[in-house]
Amino acid sequence: MNNGCHPDFCSRKSTVAQYHVEFARVGMNDTSRPDGPDANLPIDTEEATRLEALRALSLLGTPPSAGFDRIVETARDLFGAAAAYVSLIEGEREWRKALVGDVAREARRCDGFCRHTIRSDAVLVVEDALDDPRFASLPIVREGYRFYAGAPLVVDGARLGALAVLDRAPRGLGATDRTLLVELAKAVVDEIERGRGRDASTLQPSRFTPERRFQALAAVNACVVWRAAASGEITEAALSGPFAARATADLLGLAWLDLVHPADRRRLFRRGLGARRRGASFEETLRLSDGEGRWRWTQLRVVPLVREDGTLAEWIGKCMDVHERMLAEDAGRREAERLRLALAAGRMSTWEYDPETRAIVRDAASEAILGVPRDDLEAALERIHPEDRPFLDAAYAPGGPCCIDAVRYRHPDGRWMWLSTRAQEMRDADGRRRVVGVTFDITERKEAEERAWRAANRDSLTGLENRAAFQRSLARALSCARATAGRVSILLVDVDDFKDVNDAAGHDAGDALLREVAARLARVTGSGPHLARLGGDEFAVLIEGHAEVGESLGLAQAIEAGFRAPFMHGGRSLACRASIGVACFPDHADDAQELMMSADLALFSAKEQGRGRAAVYRPALRAAVEARVALVGEIRAALGGDAIEPHYQPKIDLATGAVTGFEALARWRHPVRGLITPGAFADAFENAEIALAIGERMARAVSADLAAWLGQGFDPGTVAINLSAAEFGRADLPDVLFAALDEAGVPRWRLGVEVTETVFLGKRAEAVAATLARFARAGMRIALDDFGTGYASLTHLKQFPVDDIKIDRSFVRDLERDPGDAAIVAAVIGLGRAFGLRVVAEGVETGGQEERLRGMGCDEGQGFRFGKPMPASRVPMFLREHGAASASAGAGRVLAVG
Ligand code: C2E
Ligand code: CA
Ligand code: CA
Repeated sequence: MNNGCHPDFCSRKSTVAQYHVEFARVGMNDTSRPDGPDANLPIDTEEATRLEALRALSLLGTPPSAGFDRIVETARDLFGAAAAYVSLIEGEREWRKALVGDVAREARRCDGFCRHTIRSDAVLVVEDALDDPRFASLPIVREGYRFYAGAPLVVDGARLGALAVLDRAPRGLGATDRTLLVELAKAVVDEIERGRGRDASTLQPSRFTPERRFQALAAVNACVVWRAAASGEITEAALSGPFAARATADLLGLAWLDLVHPADRRRLFRRGLGARRRGASFEETLRLSDGEGRWRWTQLRVVPLVREDGTLAEWIGKCMDVHERMLAEDAGRREAERLRLALAAGRMSTWEYDPETRAIVRDAASEAILGVPRDDLEAALERIHPEDRPFLDAAYAPGGPCCIDAVRYRHPDGRWMWLSTRAQEMRDADGRRRVVGVTFDITERKEAEERAWRAANRDSLTGLENRAAFQRSLARALSCARATAGRVSILLVDVDDFKDVNDAAGHDAGDALLREVAARLARVTGSGPHLARLGGDEFAVLIEGHAEVGESLGLAQAIEAGFRAPFMHGGRSLACRASIGVACFPDHADDAQELMMSADLALFSAKEQGRGRAAVYRPALRAAVEARVALVGEIRAALGGDAIEPHYQPKIDLATGAVTGFEALARWRHPVRGLITPGAFADAFENAEIALAIGERMARAVSADLAAWLGQGFDPGTVAINLSAAEFGRADLPDVLFAALDEAGVPRWRLGVEVTETVFLGKRAEAVAATLARFARAGMRIALDDFGTGYASLTHLKQFPVDDIKIDRSFVRDLERDPGDAAIVAAVIGLGRAFGLRVVAEGVETGGQEERLRGMGCDEGQGFRFGKPMPASRVPMFLREHGAASASAGAGRVLAVG
């Protein structure tokens, strides 16, 4: 530090010359610059002369006097200092002739600043005494004074003492203020020379008058200096720097008023009036016109000089040009504001951490982000996720990375956030570690990443892997299996009749069902296998390790069994089963694509076998599927002729054994492969055009057969045909059937229809109701087919004119073994009774089943036990064997057996 030197002299070369001219006049050339420790200050001849001069004045120990007091007060006010005094340095003591502020009248010479001041003609400025070893331990500094400025009192070439100002806060002293201090020191010297007791009111003007000095004062700091009468009229002024363009005359009298910015005038007058009342100096920041059309910011300091009687003698004032500083400060403020806004927009907060004391200082933004007081480190740390704490501790250990990519933080309002931190370790002057950093709230970014990741890898509905992620998992699993001679199995799980649920119960129900499927899959498979939803109602399970094909099939069966419990949605129960295809690497395929295809074929075969089951891939499947695809093409070609023909399966009254009628089932007489059942061309029914053609063909053939049997005197009861959902798409369906019957001359009541509940679902329900109503009016029986397997709803039984319920074969099959199935059958029979419907059991194959059904009160049976589907030509013989009487038995629908 260069306390006591002249920092301004170094930095303001341009003004140095002027300054020196001025100071040379008052004998201020620095000739005895102290360098060494002053403790061994020699009491030389110069000192002896000095002491002699001091004693000659007989000032030491004299009582206070107004003249000196006025000067120290002025000094204090002019510099806005805490204390000021006039000191006289005796042999070992510093005695203060006049003082203002909290300082002692007297001190040891070695305990004061002023003994240093008198070693040179220059002003001594100590910006911060604590920074200077010469002063740091002085008693006055320990009492709290940090700043000192002193100008020597030079009388006849001897420096007797100093005019000093002190402040409690460290600060600097500009060149103008140094000059003013020198001027005031001159006033003290004048006062000394004038002798004790002289009237102080005469002191000022004489010292400020020389025009040249005024000009110099103004010049050194680009400022305006002036004196004004008590009335406010300026009597003397000097302008320089940015105001140099102005003439002194622009200020004189009250002309200066025009220089002050209109917006600042009022403030200035108010302060002036206050200063006048209290006799106190003031400072004000205001704009002055520079004479060239610009307003410049200046710092004004005004000191009222008050006479002993309290009246105002005059004003002295100076204006520092602070325009650049103001602009810089303003720019700084705006920059700080920009930074604050940027931090807020980026959800960032800055902080400084002392690892030793664990004290943290955070900015105001931190409270908004973290929700805890800004200085409370523990409160913030407690909220870090326990699993993430170790990252934090490691990061701030000495030499740690200081950066944390992401930790989870629980905001006091309960939500979890993600925070990221960038920090830097620093050492302060005394070598203490500090960590300075920025903490970001990256929750939004993290969530967006998470969303993006999920969108790319997860099925949004179920949260399972999506198809792309599954493919990646499969590829990974295969390369791992190749390396370890392991196995990879995939299970393709397809929800049967999902489309019906979606159509009937709505998409919400469909979505809920798919979520439930995912949950059940997870429950059955446990944490091991990968689960994925490949799309629609298709799911996949990936099993790694060494599981044999049999084990995978076992898991598939467990999954299928898990589907048997009904799915509940909105208080309704949705029946739905799963078909599952199983394929295994390396047994069934060499690569991912082939493995998927094999599993797909296995799934296909599971569906073909009647759904609700699992099937393992067999090489034969591939050939079968290919054949099937070819078949659909062929059937289209065959529709024109008689290739499709009905076969008839009898229905038997379980109580009497009588034949109640037949069900007509479509058969395809293939030129090469012989008779083909619908299972092989089920796909054809999905195609509306083919389904309609088959339906029409069946209606005509059945009508013709009925006509023939009736003509031969046989009574076949009623013959039911199956109608697919596609057929209900045509509004003239009844007309087609009626036309076929009418043309053959068969009464309409002879024909019955079987529909599955799926035809009731979806958008066409109203049209279906109308069509069924027409059938009912024509006296035709309507049977609800495959009851219990689809979307079972009692409302259908009420809404539609149903006569019969057909219990699905799958319930009859295990009737004797499975109590659940038996319960369902019993319930359906009870239901039929309650609604006044006849209940028909399908697929009755054994005497045991027949017995059970009869015992339960089932009305009719159908199945291999009573007769397989037979060609029309065999029906008369069948009827004859069952002792059916002639058609003349009339309109009775049920014919007693012999
Ligand atoms: P469905 O209406 O449930 O017909 C009963 C099916 O069970 C028939 O199969 C029949 O051969 C078979 N079946 C009857 N009793 C037994 C038994 O004791 N044991 C076993 N294992 N099976 C038995 P089919 O003839 O293969 O017909 C399959 C399905 O094709 C039919 O199921 C029906 O939904 C559909 N279908 C058949 N003909 C037509 C038709 O002309 N039009 C339409 N739309 N669908 C038809
Ligand atoms: Ca049927
Ligand atoms: Ca059926």
